[in-house]
Amino acid sequence: MKVLTDYDIGSLASLLAEWGYKPSHAGRLLGHFYRYAGQAIDFERLLIPQALRKQLEGQVGYRQSRVAARREAGDGTTKLLIEFDGGGEVESVLMPGYRADRAAGCVSSQIGCAMGCDFCATTQGGLVRNLSAGEIAEQFLHLKELAVAQGRQLQTIVFMGMGEPMLNLENVIGGIRRIADPLLGAVGWRNTNVSTVGVVPGIHRFIDANLNVNLTVSLHAPDDRTRAKIIPTAQRYPVAEILAAAKRFLAEARLFPNIAYCLLDGVNDSDEHANRLADLMEGFRAHVNLIPYNRIGAGLSGTVYRPAPPERIARFLQILHARGVVAHGRDSRGDDVDAACGQLRARYGGQ
Ligand code: SF4
Repeated sequence: MKVLTDYDIGSLASLLAEWGYKPSHAGRLLGHFYRYAGQAIDFERLLIPQALRKQLEGQVGYRQSRVAARREAGDGTTKLLIEFDGGGEVESVLMPGYRADRAAGCVSSQIGCAMGCDFCATTQGGLVRNLSAGEIAEQFLHLKELAVAQGRQLQTIVFMGMGEPMLNLENVIGGIRRIADPLLGAVGWRNTNVSTVGVVPGIHRFIDANLNVNLTVSLHAPDDRTRAKIIPTAQRYPVAEILAAAKRFLAEARLFPNIAYCLLDGVNDSDEHANRLADLMEGFRAHVNLIPYNRIGAGLSGTVYRPAPPERIARFLQILHARGVVAHGRDSRGDDVDAACGQLRARYGGQ
């Protein structure tokens, strides 16, 4: 049976018209459903006929997922393991915002991942399947419910959980439309951010979709040789092509892309790497985010990575700043709850 998250306003309006009802009920119904996540729909207040309510309840369910596990870290980060009726689980994360009444959410786009990044726990079981747009939206609804219970507003959503969003772009766009649209999830287009490890054709299709949504490119190394050691697809998508795509995003979307760089001890954290990254950023108005590494044990190649020490991170940042690069060091979130994506799912034996 289909559920409400499987529909956007247009497709639900078509269904209602097919059933002989006014298509205009669709917007009010879905708007209420997203606005009051987790609460029963007030059909009377929405002036939706009882007959339609009955038909909907008989033929369209409300949810296709549930929270199977929940872990909270000392810093307030909460990681949810979400299980789908269609099989499989993903991780979604709620992070406290810098204001006490705000929160940011991180959602997954695939169950597992085929990209094979050597420092990542998600990819260790390979790709299981793509999530549907509705399954992506359901993660948002679970996070919103949690945020509301904590007295927070879920203000931003990032696609930085399990999976490579550009390899499931159609459903990711469907999910974004449900989450960001002011008439539905109402997070806002500019408060939504999609992250890619550098799938160049996907970045171009993302730009073509003209969503007004932010882009993060996980570069993790300034040259193809270093990058290929940790990201197998670096051979297919060279740094130069990835940055050309990011520059096209800047030019056409008129939003500053983020360049994410996870600092791994002895791999990509030298002064030389910092200077090469600064070379790449010359004349390119993007923001560099340095991300601390969360340990996962051995990667697919058997290598055990370690986070760069704090003094190395500080030095890396210092070099970037001295070269005029806009760069920030990001805090590690949820250190004590299997912080790296894919770890919670692995702990619960997920596939
Ligand atoms: S880092 Fe992202 S793209 Fe790479 S394997 Fe992990 S989930 Fe996939």
